[in-house]
Amino acid sequence: MTSSAVASSIVTTGARLPPLPTIRDLVRLYKLRAIKQLSQNFLMDERLTNKIVRAAGNISDSHVLEVGPGPGGITRSIIKKCPRHLVVVEKDRRFLPTLELLSEASSSSLRMDIVRGDILEYRTENAFPDCPRYDWHDKRAPVHLIGNLPFAISTRLLINWLRDISLKMGAWSYGRASLTLTFQKEVAERIVAPILAENRCRLSVMNQIWSRAELKFMIPGKAFVPKPDVDVGVVSIIPLKTPLTSIHFDVVEKVVRHIFSMRQKYCRRGVANLYPPPLREELTNLTFRLADVDPLARSFQLSTEECLRIAGAYEKLVRSNPEIEYYNYRAQKNKDEDL
Ligand code: SAM
Repeated sequence: MTSSAVASSIVTTGARLPPLPTIRDLVRLYKLRAIKQLSQNFLMDERLTNKIVRAAGNISDSHVLEVGPGPGGITRSIIKKCPRHLVVVEKDRRFLPTLELLSEASSSSLRMDIVRGDILEYRTENAFPDCPRYDWHDKRAPVHLIGNLPFAISTRLLINWLRDISLKMGAWSYGRASLTLTFQKEVAERIVAPILAENRCRLSVMNQIWSRAELKFMIPGKAFVPKPDVDVGVVSIIPLKTPLTSIHFDVVEKVVRHIFSMRQKYCRRGVANLYPPPLREELTNLTFRLADVDPLARSFQLSTEECLRIAGAYEKLVRSNPEIEYYNYRAQKNKDEDL
């Protein structure tokens, strides 16, 4: 496409932005073909990008981190809401020109920083130097994470962020920052799955301990370019003022992972693998007794509180048997198989 063709299809994208070519035209102009390894599926429909940003609530005058802006569809919708400071983190350098175009066009209304890098390594605690730190029990911090996430790393990112929430680190060093994120539909449904739901899993329990998650709406796969094989759910996550536990995230994560590791079996089976074979039977019995949980329940039948009671019992047993803390069933299994 020539630049005159682009000029002819120029659209006005909002009060604070001068007329810009459409995202679709920019993608064509810069020949931005999607790279599968980076989970690139672009949203070109402005109504949908606006809807995602609306799901984040009032972001005007706030500090916003956008994960994986790509060609900048959601970025435009964010800019139109006039945040005070927008930081975008994008791994693929091919998007820098389209993002710089947005940064220049919006420079009179807000500060926009473009970070070329990997979100898994980005230090969010340094992102917003002008943002005050809010008390956790006070109102929510004016900090929002928004992103049409790369599917390949979305679960890992969510677990990392929940850990940061639990430790009040990263974006949560500013206080209770909120998240508005896309996930593959099935993952979005799992995040909010209540007790007894068939798709309840580790993600559901981990989320519900530290946050309130809400599945806002679905976006059909056909709205993305290229079209993924799945539909997409937009989830909003607000950290709880008072989490359901004070046990360290890493302990809870380990125990909950074991509880859900054998979904079709009694939950006792997964929990037993927390312990080395010589102590397994005795400590597993003790765990369920201390936790007052039915060892013959299936994992999806356990409430969040019951999972936490199991984690509490495990923590107590580690205190009296320190040698079990670093026992790793998987590593041991692999070693045995190598023999
Ligand atoms: N926000 C754009 C949209 O909605 O059209 C693009 C979304 S696309 C699903 C995911 C984006 O995340 C891509 O631009 C991709 O390059 C970027 N990405 C993938 N892995 C990343 C990583 N580790 N760190 C930062 N960005 C990443």
